[in-house]
Amino acid sequence: MTVFCDLDGTLLDVSEKFHRIYSHLLRENGHKPMGKDDYWRLRRGGLKTCDILSWTGAESLLARYESGFLERVEHPEWLAFDTIFDGVPGLLRRVRNAGRVVLVTLRRDPHALAWQLSHTGLAEHLDLVLSGHDPQREAWQVKVGLVREALPDCDFSASWFIGDMATDIRAGKALGCRTAAVLTGMGVEDSLRLLEPDFILAGINDVATTVGL
Ligand SMILES: [Mg+2]
Repeated sequence: MTVFCDLDGTLLDVSEKFHRIYSHLLRENGHKPMGKDDYWRLRRGGLKTCDILSWTGAESLLARYESGFLERVEHPEWLAFDTIFDGVPGLLRRVRNAGRVVLVTLRRDPHALAWQLSHTGLAEHLDLVLSGHDPQREAWQVKVGLVREALPDCDFSASWFIGDMATDIRAGKALGCRTAAVLTGMGVEDSLRLLEPDFILAGINDVATTVGL
């Protein structure tokens, strides 16, 4: 059995980093940011960035905000705010007793990714790390391509694909895996439900009981 697992919002809690970058960019441009709970309530409610900015009258910042966010979101100075969810090392150890864990992520900076996997201790719990970035293709197609290229002989029908975004569920279904969506990241529950994953879980630790590991 192979468990394909997303990183951001699935194994890593990125909520602090996202809110800090948001707050930094708003303050830098003379606006008052909203608190972390409000910010995530709106994001997980499905609001787009422009709507979140307009909530505090900062909608004119959109272009500057988006480029500023991209510049920072994979920089180690900000990656340092990401933490692994409680219980993840133990969970990955259990999964690896029954199979292998393959990380599938769409980071642009492979060096920053390697630094973070080492810094968080996740690296020692992963059998394989697949990462790529291709703005010409849809994100789920990039994930499918990474997996097919690395593991052409994988038995996908005996595998799982787990992640927090529609991208992960689409990729898992396209590969023929069973799928589980987690609600700890950036995905919106109603949108994830429309894709009909096999399971919708509160968090990655529920995989243990659901999948029976
Ligand atoms: Mg994710």
